[in-house]
Amino acid sequence: MIIIYVGAKYIMSLKLLDELYNKIDKLNGFGPKNILLFDKLCGSRLLDIIFHLPNSIIKRIKINSLKDEYIYKRIIINGKVKSTWFSYKKPKISIVTLEVNDQILEIIYFNVNRNWFLNNFIKDNEITISGELIRKGKKWQVIHPDYIQIKKLEEIIPIYETTYPLTSGLSHKKIKAAVKYSISEIPGFSEWINSELLKDKNWQSFNKSLLKLHFPKTLEEVENAHLYKERLAYDEALSRQLALNLIRKHKHKTEQKTLININTLKDKLINNLPFKLTDDQQDVLKTIYEDINLNKRMYRLLQGDVGSGKTIVAFLSILHVVEHGFQGALMAPTEILAYQHYLFFKKYENIIGIRIALLTSKMQKNIKINMIDDINNGKINIIIGTHALIQSNIKFKNLRLAIIDEQHRFGVYQRLELSKKSPNTDFMVMTATPIPRTLVLTDYGDMDISIIHSKPINRAKIETISVSIPRMNEVIKAISRAIKNNEQIFWVCPLVKDSEKLDLAAAETRQKYLHNIFPNNVAIVHGQMDSRDKENSLLQFSKNEKKILVSTTVIEVGIDIPNATIMIIEHAERFGLAQLHQLRGRIGRGTKNSVCILLYDQKIGEIARERLTVMRETNNGFLISEKDLKLRGAGEILGTRQSGGQMFKILDINIHENLIKIANKNSKMIINENPNLIGIEGEKLKQLLYLFGQDKAVKLIKSG
Ligand code: ADP
Ligand code: MG
Repeated sequence: MIIIYVGAKYIMSLKLLDELYNKIDKLNGFGPKNILLFDKLCGSRLLDIIFHLPNSIIKRIKINSLKDEYIYKRIIINGKVKSTWFSYKKPKISIVTLEVNDQILEIIYFNVNRNWFLNNFIKDNEITISGELIRKGKKWQVIHPDYIQIKKLEEIIPIYETTYPLTSGLSHKKIKAAVKYSISEIPGFSEWINSELLKDKNWQSFNKSLLKLHFPKTLEEVENAHLYKERLAYDEALSRQLALNLIRKHKHKTEQKTLININTLKDKLINNLPFKLTDDQQDVLKTIYEDINLNKRMYRLLQGDVGSGKTIVAFLSILHVVEHGFQGALMAPTEILAYQHYLFFKKYENIIGIRIALLTSKMQKNIKINMIDDINNGKINIIIGTHALIQSNIKFKNLRLAIIDEQHRFGVYQRLELSKKSPNTDFMVMTATPIPRTLVLTDYGDMDISIIHSKPINRAKIETISVSIPRMNEVIKAISRAIKNNEQIFWVCPLVKDSEKLDLAAAETRQKYLHNIFPNNVAIVHGQMDSRDKENSLLQFSKNEKKILVSTTVIEVGIDIPNATIMIIEHAERFGLAQLHQLRGRIGRGTKNSVCILLYDQKIGEIARERLTVMRETNNGFLISEKDLKLRGAGEILGTRQSGGQMFKILDINIHENLIKIANKNSKMIINENPNLIGIEGEKLKQLLYLFGQDKAVKLIKSG
């Protein structure tokens, strides 16, 4: 329930929409079991069900006589029952003969219920049936009609009938009943799209579009389905863009202290780095400093391909707030990565003269207590940890900048929650994989964007080859050569059906196998090790005490070991493009040329094959992410459906890019003119937001 404050009239209209947030179990015959099935299929609230759109349509034709041209068509035909023949014996074929004018049509049933059969088909009765017409020799037949209509009623059998994506356990009938009921609960809306756009696109109203998509009555309506769908897709895009703009405005509300550039600590660090910052890194840093300096909170997304050097940008950004006596935090997706960042930062701790701490879940209690104290009293300037850092009960003295090195993407509303927890903090999210432009619009529209386009020069070349598993010998030879050259090897084991246990078994088997060939030279890391063991393994590998690191995908993001020159990905066909690119990004970090070997199963599918081809052909993360979007769809790229409701119901990012752009432009205009969505126009837009599940954004207006 949301509280409306603008006037009695509006309370009415949004209350009506509350109904749509209810689950379908109000309807007779829809119990908890069905709710679970609907949850699996599309969601069980009415507003989920109205947007569960048909995926195809059955077209029937009404005919009066049987002709060859109707064979294999779905016909509706009227006739008189001439005789019935019910069979008890296997194969239990029962037959009704129907007189159609002077022709005979046989209706065939297998294993039909006797009572039902005899009650429905009574000699000399007129009936109407629908089904696919076939011809067997000279006989006309329909096997198992999809409809029979006993009385002569008008229009019970629909000419056009939509069919829906199913899940096992839910019949079409059930889904249809749910859709019908849900649609009947939608109030009549006033139009929220401006009339020019509506006219230009030839769109109908929301209600009409939805109704005609689900229940088309004429051929014209069938053929216009794309228009109705497009309109709804635009609605969805607009609601998302409005929500993002509201969130953005909301985040910028708190006032912060303005800062200036001091650059003492910054220069100290830069002067001690073994490399010079690239132009891109410098440009990005300039923007970040300016943004932090403002009295508005920063919300920035830093994009940069793997190996483009985001970590140092994070470090320098944090130093900027530390120069002003504030604290900064860097959060990594895994403890290993947090540890690695920590090692990198720690090298410069004394040179710069600040205190840096690593906070992990598995630390000794007394050390942790002291550390938490020092964070609280401000003795520690930079805190490094996992994402849990900011969600825990740790109190910072004055956290000004939080940087999130992300792996699983946070949804829009998750980011909002995070920002609520630290109202005076600037935020920057660094992405491990470049995000396609359209996704930036739909999922990061609440943030400002910085991009590191090019990697540091003089990077080693990475060659990518794919090798089928039977050619394992060649891979072993390549490893031997590398080891002779004192180089190191990553070996990533396959994902086995989402089961950590099985993943682990595969990794352990592989480790044993490699250990037999390269004794005492194989380290292992996997998700089920405790963090100290993981760190030990990684440390051994990073000190070059072991040449090969076997792992599950835990090493995916961020690990930085410049001496590693070979990356072997076993069952590469099971990985997504973005993941493969991330993994490959672990090599080619030093000056030596590197090779990524994609070991694949020969029985691979079309899409998997295409992915491997893309990997061989390009090393450009931006291209790869665009391709990934095409091959997999946005849901996969952004993580699971559950993660913060980022998935769309109707909008298809690959098809509707243009609609997203229009919605983006229009939403900005709307929020500029009417930031609190007041008045009748505002009210309509709030309805739209509510309709597409953006109720949290509506609440933001209220909370101011
Ligand atoms: P990512 O963007 O993937 O997080 P990192 O920050 O881990 O990349 O940087 C990759 C490697 O490049 C690290 O070893 C880092 O020290 C190095 N590096 C960063 N910036 C530069 C630069 N300007 N010139 C040379 N090497 C750099
Ligand atoms: Mg990184």
